[in-house]
Amino acid sequence: MPELPELEALAEGLTAEIAGRRVERAVAWSPATLRTAEPPLEALAGGEVRAVRRRGKLMLVEAGDLVLVMHLMSSGRLGLTTPPKGRPPRTAGIGLVLDDGRELRLRELSTRRRASASLVPVTGLEHHPQLARLGPEPMGLTAPEWRERLTAPPGVLQNALREGRRVAGVGRCYASEIMWAARLPPLARTDRLPDDAWERLAAAADQVLGAALDRARERITTNLPDREQRLTYVHGHFGEPCLRCGTSLARVGFSEYELVYCPACQTGGRMYADRRMSRLLR
Ligand SMILES: [Zn+2]
Repeated sequence: MPELPELEALAEGLTAEIAGRRVERAVAWSPATLRTAEPPLEALAGGEVRAVRRRGKLMLVEAGDLVLVMHLMSSGRLGLTTPPKGRPPRTAGIGLVLDDGRELRLRELSTRRRASASLVPVTGLEHHPQLARLGPEPMGLTAPEWRERLTAPPGVLQNALREGRRVAGVGRCYASEIMWAARLPPLARTDRLPDDAWERLAAAADQVLGAALDRARERITTNLPDREQRLTYVHGHFGEPCLRCGTSLARVGFSEYELVYCPACQTGGRMYADRRMSRLLR
């Protein structure tokens, strides 16, 4: 799933490329992707693109006095394409055809089609339900702010980090990277973390997300790649040596994903039981 660094780089690249372009027409190739009925998507036609912005994991295309708000979920992709004539591929979700013939297209790589879009007037945008419930952006948050966001109410660290209402924009990949960089135990309750955990978390979040954003800017301009190529230290590296201490990285499986961590740096030697098994046994 694209997260803050990839989406931020994409927003910057798209704004540089299409700001000032006029929308010629807007098409819901997959009508179910659009979750709002009023105003109709065609109302975007004639509007000038002002900017493409990111907030949390939402992408916002501002055109005329409307904003198209998109949540890509795990397999949605957004990017500029020069479409050939004829029927678009089945992956096409929503398209904004620009006055230079190119199309800003939301694609959906999975048949489960969970990516969504809604069209809202720019006035009152802050009341959009998906935007209104988002917590602050993670970069630049102070240690006390992190503590407040993640402990009120308390939760399991690796879940709390990914809950957009607490802090917006972090998903599985960068949550794992941040916890490893901060040497924090992924399954600890947030209200039982030591006092110095929050300074480490604040520093790790800035460092991990900042470095990832720098790298994303090098490879993402006007399209998200189908398969993400991120440089990670733990995410996706089960069984490989920890680059800090050399211990074999461990994993804990959940029903839809697995989380990789260093049992020496992060959990004080403790190995987590597989959560898929304990669920079946319960
Ligand atoms: Zn380690």
